[in-house]
Amino acid sequence: MNLVVMESPRMSPAPGTERKSCRWVASAPLPTRFGTFTAHVFRAVELEGDTEVEKEHVALVFGEVAGVRGLPARVHSECITSEVFGSLKCDCKDQLDAAMADIARRGAGVVFYMRQEGRGIGLANKIRAYALQAEGHDTVDANRMLGLPDDQRRYDAVVEMLDHLEVPSLRLMTNNPLKVSSLERLGVEVEGRLPVVCTPNPHSAGYLETKRIRMAHHLPARVLEPLRRVVGGDAE
Ligand SMILES: [Zn+2]
Repeated sequence: MNLVVMESPRMSPAPGTERKSCRWVASAPLPTRFGTFTAHVFRAVELEGDTEVEKEHVALVFGEVAGVRGLPARVHSECITSEVFGSLKCDCKDQLDAAMADIARRGAGVVFYMRQEGRGIGLANKIRAYALQAEGHDTVDANRMLGLPDDQRRYDAVVEMLDHLEVPSLRLMTNNPLKVSSLERLGVEVEGRLPVVCTPNPHSAGYLETKRIRMAHHLPARVLEPLRRVVGGDAE
């Protein structure tokens, strides 16, 4: 078992949540309905304020990825509400499924599954924000009313996981320009972006519209147009 702690000179962690280490701990084939991936589990010790937190991130690999430039890659943050409970309030589960299907279709790629619920604010705060959204506030305003950032996710561990997998550069499967720039700031070479556009439902359309307008996500307005009339002013 490889227990070597890998340190990358490309890292430049923000103050307050400095990542201390990320190491590979286990790998195994994982048959899924999209094909057989290999699940590589990594343990990252991260500092949140003064507290050390251990997180188990997953690199879900399909095909041969070592040395592949421009590898299709999704950096995905966990979402228990949609992925486990089938919540329709967001498009996380749809995006995860679409990315895995697309990677399998392309023959090679990786999904980095990052353990940071609710755009990094944690499950309890996410549910608090949902309570405010049920009163009519959108996702950005709800976070701000709770004194929380719009997006607190960190991607430092991705650098170590890429090093372990020997992947030199990515094409990132995302609609989120902040995610691209966050990874580039860490030294990850992003050669391009592959859009992940899922069909919204009446519950998620308001949330997606907020992401498009207030968080500059690349989502075509035409995708949301058919549902805008259905949901009216409903903001999730
Ligand atoms: Zn979600």
